[in-house]
Amino acid sequence: MDESTHGGSRYYGDDSQSLRAHDDEIATRKDQLWRLSSSYLVSDVPSIQRSLVQHVEYTLARRRYKFDRGSFYQATAHSVRDRLIERWTDTQQFYASRDGKRMYYLSLEFLVGRSMGNAVSNLGLRGAYAEALRQLGYDLEDIMSQEKEPALGNGGLGRLASCFLDTLATLNYPAWGYGIRYKYGMFEQRLVNGKQVEFPDYWLTYGNPWEVERLDVKYLVRLYGEVKTYEDEQTGETRFRWEGGEVVVAVAYDTPIPGYGTYNTNNMRLWSSKPSHEFDLASFNAGDYYGAVEAKERCESITSVLYPSDDTDSGKVLRLKQQFFFVSATLQDVLRRYKKRIVPGRTLKNLPEKVAIQLNDTHPSISIPELMRLLLDDEMLPWDEAWDITTRTFGYTNHTILPEALEKWQVPMMEELLPRHMQIIYEINHRFLQQVEDRWPGDNEKMRAMSIIEESTPKMVRMAHLAMVGSHVVNGVAEIHTRLVKSRLFPEFDQMFPGRIKNVTNGVTPRRWILQANPAMAGIFTSILGPGWVNDLRRLATLKPFAHDDTFQHSWNEAKRLNKERLALWVKANMGVDLMTNAIYDMQVKRIHEYKRQLLNVLGIVHRYAVIAGSTPEQRARMLPRVCVIAGKAAPGYEVAKKIIQLACAVSKAVNNDVRCAGVLQVVFIPNFNVSLAELIIPASDVSQHISTAGMEASGTGNMKFVMNGGLIVGTADGANIEIARAVGEDNLFCFGATADEVAALRNTMKSRLPAGDERLQRSVRMIRSGVFGNPDDFSQLMDNIEPANDYYLIAHDFPGYLDALDMADAAYLHQPSWTARTIRAACSMWEFSSDRTIKEYADKVWQMEPLPFKPPHHQDGGGGSMGGGGRRGPSFNGRGSRAGYDGGR
Ligand SMILES: *Cc1c(COP(=O)(O)O)cnc(C)c1O
Repeated sequence: MDESTHGGSRYYGDDSQSLRAHDDEIATRKDQLWRLSSSYLVSDVPSIQRSLVQHVEYTLARRRYKFDRGSFYQATAHSVRDRLIERWTDTQQFYASRDGKRMYYLSLEFLVGRSMGNAVSNLGLRGAYAEALRQLGYDLEDIMSQEKEPALGNGGLGRLASCFLDTLATLNYPAWGYGIRYKYGMFEQRLVNGKQVEFPDYWLTYGNPWEVERLDVKYLVRLYGEVKTYEDEQTGETRFRWEGGEVVVAVAYDTPIPGYGTYNTNNMRLWSSKPSHEFDLASFNAGDYYGAVEAKERCESITSVLYPSDDTDSGKVLRLKQQFFFVSATLQDVLRRYKKRIVPGRTLKNLPEKVAIQLNDTHPSISIPELMRLLLDDEMLPWDEAWDITTRTFGYTNHTILPEALEKWQVPMMEELLPRHMQIIYEINHRFLQQVEDRWPGDNEKMRAMSIIEESTPKMVRMAHLAMVGSHVVNGVAEIHTRLVKSRLFPEFDQMFPGRIKNVTNGVTPRRWILQANPAMAGIFTSILGPGWVNDLRRLATLKPFAHDDTFQHSWNEAKRLNKERLALWVKANMGVDLMTNAIYDMQVKRIHEYKRQLLNVLGIVHRYAVIAGSTPEQRARMLPRVCVIAGKAAPGYEVAKKIIQLACAVSKAVNNDVRCAGVLQVVFIPNFNVSLAELIIPASDVSQHISTAGMEASGTGNMKFVMNGGLIVGTADGANIEIARAVGEDNLFCFGATADEVAALRNTMKSRLPAGDERLQRSVRMIRSGVFGNPDDFSQLMDNIEPANDYYLIAHDFPGYLDALDMADAAYLHQPSWTARTIRAACSMWEFSSDRTIKEYADKVWQMEPLPFKPPHHQDGGGGSMGGGGRRGPSFNGRGSRAGYDGGR
């Protein structure tokens, strides 16, 4: 995916260099090639059908019309990919010609979800593909469901990265994502006897038609080795060179990221590790065949597996290797691209004017010493200049203040794996601590608190401090989180670098989370507003005055009913449970973690079960029927979280098999929560739970998706819930529980003052402890943990308020027309939580980057960047934009 490998800059403005005379012949040949590929593929129905059949015959080498749905999925994917590729290569060529500032989003995780639906809809070709397939006897939805989603992320952080890539392309920003192409993504979760069992997710079994392997784009990455010192011949200064050790190769795999309603198509470049020599010939000749094979395997293992933990796997050498491997390849790639463009007077000093790098959490923060190393040791820049370039290039997004989740690496381990980086980190810290000393002379406490090195045994490198010191902007991901970053995590840093810590609240892309996930509701919006709302969520606000309109309410409720039926169908087919569809759908789907408090939810369900069991049939007949959905994965080593899953499954089994609950309560734990399931589950919800202990969820993005899809939140005053409540009206978010400021004090007082406890909670705990849900020994630790003296997550403390909030939501739901109106008004008030708003804010506050809308030459439809701008035309440009005859524009 490199501009250099496609065409020449002559087609997009010749402001770099004139072609030298002896290149003329090559240029002529390029011209001929250009003409051959000079127009975009036609995408009317017959052309699409021709391309499908061709791919079946030539790409898959199958006999025509002899294929199953799986191979037809492959053929469709290739056909769509062809249409992405032409825009993609042209966009990159265009960016190169414009010399705009680029942003690189470095993330150890990208949770992309399925690509086909997103691609056809962003290309504006959903209708054409659906029709082409229909005429061949296939259903587009069914074909799309054949796709296995790449699960290269854990949860919210990885999904955020993918929402950002969608928005960056849609808003025409010249931006790439960089990450790792794990061979095994997030494990597949299955339930065996009501417990989580992990299975490997080998997502590449049937190949990945969405990526392009770039065997020509590769870099060497060093690990271990030693640092040599030598004297610079000219200046006499001491210089350093990192040598020896193991060298692995990073190979690029590129995936096109199409924007919606624009031609701009960006790139996600993921690295895979390969050995630098297929076999070490020396050890091979010495007879050490197995040693050579092992060394090869060791190289490839670097990108083998995604660590399935939400926070850190700190301490694991392989995790640090992954981080450094991907960062090193990325920075080499970024610097090569920057240096390729020769502009008089431009040096590496100008790098921050042309390149912004965003660090998604501390995972890629080894970038800071690595860029320093490249600038010092390879480019021979003086320290101060290198440091200035580095800090002006990096921005760092903080996603957590939980102490256990803040990455730290042991100094001895780092000294062995990355000896030169450890030196550089010491030097960064030394200079930084001098500044601290200047600011607060003699204040050793401050020095200790702020140091990048923790003086423990062994010493540790605090990666968050390194990222804080080495970036020009540090951002929290919701207002409350940013406040806590300033007041609790980095108070001294905030004093020392006033203004460096900023807030940019997260957002989610409406393309995937409304348009694709909820076609029924999207259809309502489009029928009234035209398609422009998809790129401009503010337009939904014009629907709020119609929230009480009977016809509007009717279609809104129809959409919700359809979404419930769609989910119920899936649950029936995959889990054998018949869900009621005339019930309130109450959901909590997200990673399983104590701080997210699925246990609070389960205890609430047990309470409800107790109430049902103790009531008469007449009373039960008057109860609001309820379907509770829980889903999410627990990290394989996180025993408490796995016990919570086990309890949820046990409660589900008891409730669903108890005749007293029939027609009143059903509980399902849906296994293997991922993006595709989120798209299915979220649109069916009436109420969703975002009930973390206040101060512990940085932002959350699930909360945003649910409200956009016509559900209301039961939640705590945490993360983005607070801002959502402000946007949709405080009375439309059923809020409860201790506030972040109260939590710390409560944790202290509760140890001394044991409250009597809520009788309803006591009863739920008694039921669990007495074996109603299977062997109580399995759950005794969970129950002990919520004893007042141990209740770190304040489950017992918040329980009464939680039940009240649920009751409030139920009461509101019973007033159907008013409930419907609330959900309409809330869904239509969510524009701030579109990642489009988030990215514009980043571009403004952090990256100082301008959009570069790309239009193919002589494109006919005026679509491109203006699509959706008019609010009337659909994304209907169907690839007729021609590239022929374009002469370079200037
Ligand atoms: C949005 C999303 C998340 C994040 O959910 P939170 O409620 O913010 O924790 C996790 N996993 C998937 C698959 C998602 O789509």
